[in-house]
Amino acid sequence: MEVKFIPTEQLKEKPDENALGFGNYFTDYMFTMDWTKEKGWHNAVIEPYGSIQLDPASMVLHYAQETFEGLKAYKTKEGKVLLFRPDMNAKRFANSNRRLCMEVLPEEMFVDAIATLVSREKEWIPTIEGTSLYIRPFMFATESAVGVHPSNAYKFMIVLSPVGAYYPEGVNPVKIYVEDEYVRATKGGTGFAKCGGNYAASIAAQVKAEKLGYTQVLWLDGVERKYVEEVGTMNAMFIIDRKIITAPCDGTVLPGVTRDSVIQLLKSWGYVVEERPLAIDELMEAGRNKTLQEAFGTGTAAVISPIGELSYKGESIIINDFQTGEITQRLYDTLTGIQWGKLEDSFHWTYEVN
Ligand SMILES: *Cc1c(COP(=O)(O)O)cnc(C)c1O
Repeated sequence: MEVKFIPTEQLKEKPDENALGFGNYFTDYMFTMDWTKEKGWHNAVIEPYGSIQLDPASMVLHYAQETFEGLKAYKTKEGKVLLFRPDMNAKRFANSNRRLCMEVLPEEMFVDAIATLVSREKEWIPTIEGTSLYIRPFMFATESAVGVHPSNAYKFMIVLSPVGAYYPEGVNPVKIYVEDEYVRATKGGTGFAKCGGNYAASIAAQVKAEKLGYTQVLWLDGVERKYVEEVGTMNAMFIIDRKIITAPCDGTVLPGVTRDSVIQLLKSWGYVVEERPLAIDELMEAGRNKTLQEAFGTGTAAVISPIGELSYKGESIIINDFQTGEITQRLYDTLTGIQWGKLEDSFHWTYEVN
């Protein structure tokens, strides 16, 4: 892929690595590329980070053909730059785009574009404990037309943001509200696609949960509101009687890269992992009789996030005395250890950027 480079006139000052937060700063450069029927993918450019011009009739602004991805680059002690399973993000991006009738970006172009931009912005990868460079690739419809049909033009972009630990206090349990009114996804819908529209529809529940003092919502299935699906931006796992249970990826759940990695790790450690519908009633009962040993969310941003409390229809259950469980902690240490190049990568998950 040929990528044109437009240098910036002035490099930005780098933020304090101790006070990054999440998604507050952006690097000097961004990647952009266009697609049209006539030209295919063209005009790949790395240019100074900044505003873009859009026609007011751009279809994304009206019909929300928009998809995105999220992954991180890590700098190891030796100064190597590592991505974590970018091929999985490339595949998922293609699946999201197919579902929204958007142009599919070839997987090797997706990885190549990320590697080229990250390589140029290496200096922006923070190095203190728990920090990384968050990578946000996204695509949207740019045809100017008011009329519903698949757009005949798209823009693909990548922006980069140096981020701190998702939770500044470290790995601490969060309080989760089980949402029994709003739903996130139904079979046949877009639940498995990573698209902005899913999030737009989810914000009302998030706002409600925060008002009640909870960090995120746990979604139930969209038909019966009976089975547990996933947490706001994470897949959810529950350890009941030493078995790990998580919702199956059959259309309504986002197939997380972290989810897949955690399942592989757990199986390699000899645990039984069940990908099956888990009824909220079964989960609450396990919480009452204390067979629910641990619960956690999995996702790129926080990696592993222990769940300390679940609230459903006015009843609260506390999990593992609101402490991070042993398996939860082991998963966090192992995954982040591999990501930061501190532990042997026996699954060949890391991808070095030169
Ligand atoms: C991105 C995302 C996840 C987590 O996926 P990872 O690949 O592990 O980061 C889970 N649920 C939803 C709704 C998501 O958008």
